[in-house]
Amino acid sequence: FNMVQTSPVRQATSLASATATTGVKRNKNFAKLAGGYLFPEIGRRRNAYLEKNPDANIISLGIGDTTQPIPSAILKGLVDGAAALGTKEGYSGYGAEQGKAPLRERISEVLYNGLIDPSEVFVSDGAKCDIQRIQNMFGPDVTSAVQDPSYPVYVDTSVMMGQTQELDEGKGQYDGIVYMECNEENGFFPDVAASPRADVVYICSPNNPTGVAATRAQLEQTVKTCKERGSILVFDAAYAPFIRSPDVPKSIFEIEGAKDCAIEVNSFSKYAGFTGVRLGWTVVPEGLKFSDGTPVRQDFNRVMTTSFNGASNIVQAGGLACLSDEGMKEIDNLIDYYLENAGILRKTFTELGYRVYGGTDAPYIFISLDGKSSWDTFSEILEKAEVVTIPGAGFGPGGEGFLRLSAFVPREGVIEACERLKKTMKR
Ligand code: PLP
Repeated sequence: FNMVQTSPVRQATSLASATATTGVKRNKNFAKLAGGYLFPEIGRRRNAYLEKNPDANIISLGIGDTTQPIPSAILKGLVDGAAALGTKEGYSGYGAEQGKAPLRERISEVLYNGLIDPSEVFVSDGAKCDIQRIQNMFGPDVTSAVQDPSYPVYVDTSVMMGQTQELDEGKGQYDGIVYMECNEENGFFPDVAASPRADVVYICSPNNPTGVAATRAQLEQTVKTCKERGSILVFDAAYAPFIRSPDVPKSIFEIEGAKDCAIEVNSFSKYAGFTGVRLGWTVVPEGLKFSDGTPVRQDFNRVMTTSFNGASNIVQAGGLACLSDEGMKEIDNLIDYYLENAGILRKTFTELGYRVYGGTDAPYIFISLDGKSSWDTFSEILEKAEVVTIPGAGFGPGGEGFLRLSAFVPREGVIEACERLKKTMKR
């Protein structure tokens, strides 16, 4: 069954019209966006190198994409979830837009120890998509504050929504966004109180790209400031399961008062190798309100019910398997594996004499290049060692002078990359 007959005449017409324009005006906010999204740009440079050097044996310590297979008990959840659809009793169609009740309950119970109610959990197809939906809900009239450097999605979605003015080319920052400096001196965590007030404050811990997890005291201070200023804190906890240090909070809701000012976005992507499977969730506390008294949850629910039709039922079955006792053990093992990789990377660069951050409570390590250009270093490493890294500058001007390495690599890849880097990064 062909929806469209592709006759030669039709093909010719579509070719001819490829150069024509429509009468539709481009969204002016999209025109403000600087260049492409960071990770495709890295891929483009890697492919350009491969084109010139087709025999290159490239190892990627670049994009934070998981590499290890999904462990068996979790995989069984996915397989059983799919198989159920082939039976009369197990078949299901559209589900609740907020996610299946058993999964919302397990998330509340297993990951939040009952600190939040299942009705406050919105299951989705991932944290990145939820950040866009949160921005959709806030609209163009809010101001946003981000850590600098930070995961690029907070800034780019703020620009797309029309919350900003133009990019200031000199500063590499958009006018209208509050950039909260994160550097070696402040332990890569911003002093929110020392930054101008913003309506929405994005904090990511453990952080991408710095790999540093915020302490309890830092988060308490942040919650206090947001409450005093009437800001909403959007807390991205996508790397929470990597936290191994005692007393480092895994959720913002471990901090007193957070339910009055915070939303948390989270994801199974890095928990269980679900980057391609796609499953995440957002917690919007019942008591969180806009200035006119409207519950934020009511509007987020409206976004979900209007523009999302629920996460895949197969994938939600996989999510439930993640949260079984066996699944949680498998997640721990998977994360131990990546943390061991991070340890190898940390050791290599420390021994080479670099100042190295992160990698103990996160899958990323952040290396100081002592002011050297991060894009130059990226190119040099790609050409001399055939290793892909990520230049810190890709995460905002505050990342310049640093390099991010990802521990999401098979072990032999890390070992081989370190051998090569010992030669090319020698000081
Ligand atoms: N948040 C942070 C900080 C991330 O680094 C990533 C992915 O790398 C995401 C969210 C995206 O998560 P998801 O795969 O659930 O969309």
